[in-house]
Amino acid sequence: MHSFIPPERFFPYLTWTDIEAMPNKADVVIIQPVGAIEQHGPHLPLAVDSAIGLAVLGKALEKLDASIPAFALPSLYYGKSNEHWHFPGTITLSAQTLAATLMEVGDSVYRAGFRKLVFMNSHGGQPQVLEIVARDLHQTREDFTVLPLFTWRVPNVAGELLTPKERSLGIHAGDAETSLLLSILPDQVKMDRAVAEYPPELPADSLLSIEGKLSFAWTTRDLSRSGVIGDATTATKEKGDRILESVSDGWVTVIEDVHRFQPPRAWKS
Ligand SMILES: [Zn+2]
Repeated sequence: MHSFIPPERFFPYLTWTDIEAMPNKADVVIIQPVGAIEQHGPHLPLAVDSAIGLAVLGKALEKLDASIPAFALPSLYYGKSNEHWHFPGTITLSAQTLAATLMEVGDSVYRAGFRKLVFMNSHGGQPQVLEIVARDLHQTREDFTVLPLFTWRVPNVAGELLTPKERSLGIHAGDAETSLLLSILPDQVKMDRAVAEYPPELPADSLLSIEGKLSFAWTTRDLSRSGVIGDATTATKEKGDRILESVSDGWVTVIEDVHRFQPPRAWKS
């Protein structure tokens, strides 16, 4: 059941008496991986985002010092993936269902006595939902620290390994995700079907962009026939190994930071 997570760090393997007896519960780091089951082009499995989150977290927890208490909840495999819904196999929750699920997970974690919860999100279509839930959980439980974090946002080598075009436009099932899957689940990658497909270009003098500061709403088929947005043909396992190593190093630091984090309380002073 624990897949990439070290068994001694897998929350569902604990007993309720383990949890009741746990010391310093307020500083224990509980991590909820949030993934997606959605199309990733003709060459990658639907599980890409869930697999990347679990592999990064599993490696980070292996490297983490044993003195730092941190546990992974079971992955939430389903996410809000409606941008991909024209492609068969995509399973999507509505924003409301995802938000309600995470609110109730957060409430349960809080009720068990924990005060630090990380949403570790690996799918680019849902950070907004997680940010809203995190604030709502904290608003009514003011000693609850909830962190809506994106797996890829830690310092990592992906930028150095990708072309400038891939860095700005390779947003889905391109070089980075394909390389990572060659490292994590090589038997599930069909490189003979890998394609390169970039979205239609916007005027160079426009402030608008697909993602970023001034973006517009799109579904994937507006941008790509194959479901790939980027270049999957240049992916290699070697790049994937290096990305996995550096992103998981970043997550070791994130977990250490969350463990020692003392939330600001200006209203108390
Ligand atoms: Zn993805």
